Amino acid sequence: MIYFDNAATRRVPDDILKKIIPYFIEEYGNASAIYDLGRNAKRAIESSREMVAKAINADPSEIYFTSSGTESDNWAIKGIASANKKKGKHIIVSAIEHHAILEPCKYLQKNGFDISYIPVDRSGIVNVKDVEKLLQKDTILISVMFANNEIGTIQPIAQIADLAKKNGIYFHTDAVQAVGHVDIDVKKLGVDLLTISGHKLGGPKGVGALYIKKGVKIDSLLHGGAQEMGRRASTENTPGIVGLGLAVQNSVKNMKKNNEYVKKLRDMAIEGILSKISDCFVNGDLVNRLPANVNVCFKYIEGESILLHLNHAGICASSGSACTSASLEPSHVLLAIGVKPEDAHGSLRLSFSEDNTVEEVEYLLDVLPKIVSKLRAMSPLYNSFKKK
Ligand SMILES: *Cc1c(COP(=O)(O)O)cnc(C)c1O
Repeated sequence: MIYFDNAATRRVPDDILKKIIPYFIEEYGNASAIYDLGRNAKRAIESSREMVAKAINADPSEIYFTSSGTESDNWAIKGIASANKKKGKHIIVSAIEHHAILEPCKYLQKNGFDISYIPVDRSGIVNVKDVEKLLQKDTILISVMFANNEIGTIQPIAQIADLAKKNGIYFHTDAVQAVGHVDIDVKKLGVDLLTISGHKLGGPKGVGALYIKKGVKIDSLLHGGAQEMGRRASTENTPGIVGLGLAVQNSVKNMKKNNEYVKKLRDMAIEGILSKISDCFVNGDLVNRLPANVNVCFKYIEGESILLHLNHAGICASSGSACTSASLEPSHVLLAIGVKPEDAHGSLRLSFSEDNTVEEVEYLLDVLPKIVSKLRAMSPLYNSFKKK
């Protein structure tokens, strides 16, 4: 099996797994308990908090553990909306956000908030001038993702954060795909809130973190016990938090080396695909791009069919985001960058990790052209295009 879907989720490395297991079976105490077993769990959690804080240059007291990237995004959007609604009810987000941002915005819209969507250019980049045009007197929050999960585009976060700051508006960024691939310094960037997810970087699923800058006015989503400095109730997921901390620490420590490695695989895949297959194009920016992301549209065929054939050949890939591919709607990200709906259906995303090899990419470049030819031979669209 060849796994080229590392942007959807990742394998937990053996060394991280080994360090998580004791928190299920030996150090299983409730972190709120005062006996040693509880205090050991508490200590592990605080050590993870320090690791995450250090990785993004935050203070540990600004890191809150959650159940996922989705929860962190929901907390940022709904929590800021709720705590600042007297000041204003206008929120600005980019058109290519993950559903974990777009859906909470839709929910708020139903409840009296006003949401504006920033357009992006053909490569998926937000222009700060377009954000500026959308500012209103009652704007309370701007949220723009650090790097896009489908097309890998990296945004000018510092510039957008600066605009927000100058206008007294909070700025949140979903950095789920960026952590471990891009240098992140929340102080230098000037962001107020930042989302992290464990399983996108080699930590376990079901754990995330939200950076909330000191002083930011935000309401809680979960009310109950006094965990997470009284702002996020629920018994701490000690094994998950330990895994998240180690995953963040590892990915930041090995960032340069890993980036160089996956970039080689990425460029090899892109060059190979473009040279061996006709009528296809790369989505996203070639420079401001996650080093492990490939996204290509193959005209006249369906991405889902490509995936099924790749699966048959032992290769796991994606046709966009995991959530989009289950719904068969064309990706909102591809539509936002101006890809025609019929072309958006033919998209394929490959996302690499340091576990992948050059041989695996060579194998892909051997089987993919054959799959595309076979599907096109059966495609009425392709046949009518050929006749023309
Ligand atoms: C995966 C992902 C999320 C959601 O994270 P979960 O931990 O799976 O809930 C949010 N934003 C982006 C950009 C993602 O890629």
